[in-house]
Amino acid sequence: MLKTGSEHLRSLKDGRVVYIGSERVDDVTSHPAFRNGARSIAALYDMKAADPGFSYQENNEMFSTYFLKAKTREDLQKRTALHRAIADMSHGLLGRSPDHVSSFVTGMAMNPSVFGKFSENLSRYYEHMRREDVYGVYAVIPPQAARNPEFYQKQNIPTPTLRVVREDDDGVVISGMKMLATGAVFANEIWIGNLIPLAPNQLAESITCAVPVGAPGVALWSRKPYERYAPSEFENPLTWRFDETDSMVMCEMHMDAVLAREIYIKTPGHCYGNHQSNVRFHAKMQLIVGLASKIAQASGANEVPAVREVLGRFAALEAALGGMIAGQIQDAEDWPAGFKTFNRRYMYAALNWCTESHSNIIDALRELCGGAIFQMPADISVMHDPKLREQFEAYWQTPQLGAVERMKLYKLAWDLIGSEFAGRHLQYEKFYAGASFIVRNHSFREAPWAQFHKVVDDLMAGYDVPELQNQKVA
Ligand SMILES: Cc1cc2nc3c(=O)[nH]c(=O)nc-3n(C[C@H](O)[C@H](O)[C@H](O)COP(=O)(O)OP(=O)(O)OC[C@H]3O[C@@H](n4cnc5c(N)ncnc54)[C@H](O)[C@@H]3O)c2cc1C
Repeated sequence: MLKTGSEHLRSLKDGRVVYIGSERVDDVTSHPAFRNGARSIAALYDMKAADPGFSYQENNEMFSTYFLKAKTREDLQKRTALHRAIADMSHGLLGRSPDHVSSFVTGMAMNPSVFGKFSENLSRYYEHMRREDVYGVYAVIPPQAARNPEFYQKQNIPTPTLRVVREDDDGVVISGMKMLATGAVFANEIWIGNLIPLAPNQLAESITCAVPVGAPGVALWSRKPYERYAPSEFENPLTWRFDETDSMVMCEMHMDAVLAREIYIKTPGHCYGNHQSNVRFHAKMQLIVGLASKIAQASGANEVPAVREVLGRFAALEAALGGMIAGQIQDAEDWPAGFKTFNRRYMYAALNWCTESHSNIIDALRELCGGAIFQMPADISVMHDPKLREQFEAYWQTPQLGAVERMKLYKLAWDLIGSEFAGRHLQYEKFYAGASFIVRNHSFREAPWAQFHKVVDDLMAGYDVPELQNQKVA
């Protein structure tokens, strides 16, 4: 099934429990903290339903292409094209758009045997997800500070980390919290799991399951929603539409189907999901490069050779990531048997590149902006006062741009480099795939060390201790 935007919005009116501080949100589709974000997600569903290029047919049913188990390079290209179309709509600002976790699940469903006795559950879940066009997000990290159970045991209070507290013939009872479900406010289901390995004594935490956001016993504790504080689209054009939200997930419920107790990298799941992240970041790079150039043009600095060099660097960075993404398809892997997977090493290299480059790239954009942003009036209401408007239009114009266009450009730039929304993005890009040492460990794990060592060994095998006569005699 291919959901439309309005069908998706209807699906969010399911009695879900969402808190902003102590405020209980009635309806996330109309609440001022979330309504525009909800519409942005709905627009993705409409876009994808309207274009037959973004779906595929199987057994007379249509499914979104991000559920396609790729068998050829062309299949991988189709997947990437849909990721790109989705990322372009949000300029890469929706990290956990509906194609992220669904790609994880699709990759896992390509090798369900990894799930052992739970493999049937995983295959059924994949079918359910693609049939209902489910928007899934995930919370796969234990909450910070709750990773030392002894602290809680000493006080005789429950450990906050989500865990199995009872097991019966019908399933399990889970209780506790998990971080950090980006997009959950707008999603249908939350995949609960563990991306970081657990110690043997953490068996109760080693559960993977999917919970409907509206199910009794599930509550989302939202961080501060920035959309609520955006006075208008003009003042905060990105915050206004693309605050995808982050929530702590609290669960106190019975689960009748457990998916697994250990997974991810033994299936293409992690690769499919994070390829989406690479493509998403590429869309953001295009916004950044476009803004950098426009900002340089707005002051006339684009004519200065040193500034052209800065712009050339931006363009080179954008193209480098484009190349890393294309290479993942070009050098795709035949893995698992019968399927194609994006080149894992290139994908992890791009993931690392994005994680460690984002702050510097944003900083370079910030430097290009200079103080222009703070020359602008507090808000655009000046345009509604005839006298102020006349002055604003006369004094704030430059040879390159009218006053309103300048203000519009700098407001957009600030929402990407300096607003609270922008600050959250700096943090997101550093941590969404785990802390940097986790991200780099993926590259370490996948590297062909024996091959690299052989290069060194072969080189050294070509020479030995020199003969005595070759030695310089003092
Ligand atoms: C905006 C945002 C959105 C997110 N969205 C999601 C989501 O949708 N789903 C989800 O499951 N998670 C999400 N996360 C959570 C994310 O996965 C975690 O933030 C990430 O795994 C890091 O864990 P942590 O925050 O507990 O930091 P920590 O692991 O506590 O790390 C904090 C700092 O300590 C350092 N550190 C800690 N331990 C070590 C060590 N052993 N060696 C070296 N350095 C160490 C880290 O490098 C880091 O600098 C999101 C996070 C953010 C910020």
